[in-house]
Amino acid sequence: MNKTDLRKYIFDQTRGHSTQEMEDASRIICEKLIEHEKIKNAETIVLFWSLKSEVDTHEMVAELVKEKNVILLTQSAETPPVTPPKDAVIIVPGVAFDNRGYRLGRGKGYYDRYLGSLAENYKIGICFPWQMVEKVPTDSHDVCVNEVIC
Ligand code: ADP
Ligand code: MG
Repeated sequence: MNKTDLRKYIFDQTRGHSTQEMEDASRIICEKLIEHEKIKNAETIVLFWSLKSEVDTHEMVAELVKEKNVILLTQSAETPPVTPPKDAVIIVPGVAFDNRGYRLGRGKGYYDRYLGSLAENYKIGICFPWQMVEKVPTDSHDVCVNEVIC
């Protein structure tokens, strides 16, 4: 399956899940993140304010700001994201991931551009369980995450 077809396939899968299922899955993922050693040890966390079809990060952002420096990404091409310190952990969404850490995005290459400039930071991809696939189709510009949590 190519990238375009895989995006469509996964969006269909997500539409087949209820709001409740997405909320439940999001809660489990955010609990894993809050308990994660890399996150516990980091002073700075870079993450995104989730869109409707993504793992819901809103409550987690509210928790993290109590204890960490939080850099919130807008996922907009118009505002270039800031460069975090090297010990910051970066949490990114994806339409799909595979267990090599390859990531399929929404097709604009936003995170490839951003993560490509942050070779030293630990990167965690988050997605719903149905977004984990055998193999994400890749191009040479695609940037991997170190770990996927779903
Ligand atoms: P996504 O990662 O959002 O699924 P793609 O990997 O298909 O999207 O990338 C979309 C487009 O973004 C590519 O066709 C490419 O032109 C552009 N792109 C990705 N990474 C870079 C980069 N590091 N520099 C310049 N353009 C890039
Ligand atoms: Mg890509």
